[in-house]
Amino acid sequence: MNDYNHPRSGPEADNHAATAPREAGPVGPRRKRCAQCGKPFGLVRRRRAGMQFCSNACLTEQAQGAHRAVREKARWFEFLNARG
Ligand SMILES: [Zn+2]
Repeated sequence: MNDYNHPRSGPEADNHAATAPREAGPVGPRRKRCAQCGKPFGLVRRRRAGMQFCSNACLTEQAQGAHRAVREKARWFEFLNARG
């Protein structure tokens, strides 16, 4: 029913369930939720970097958060290097 294939999805589409043993909730390990807002998926499902998102907005939000985290880490390294 919900297992239709995206035209862009590769053979690794459902392999992530095996790598997340602690996410087995009452709905089961195969029904994941949006990695950004935690809501269950509707008709649309976006995938990026092994995570799944309920909408394009959540996808871009997560990507911006990741970029910000990388930038903050880079700033930390600069800070530590500057101190010697
Ligand atoms: Zn979402």
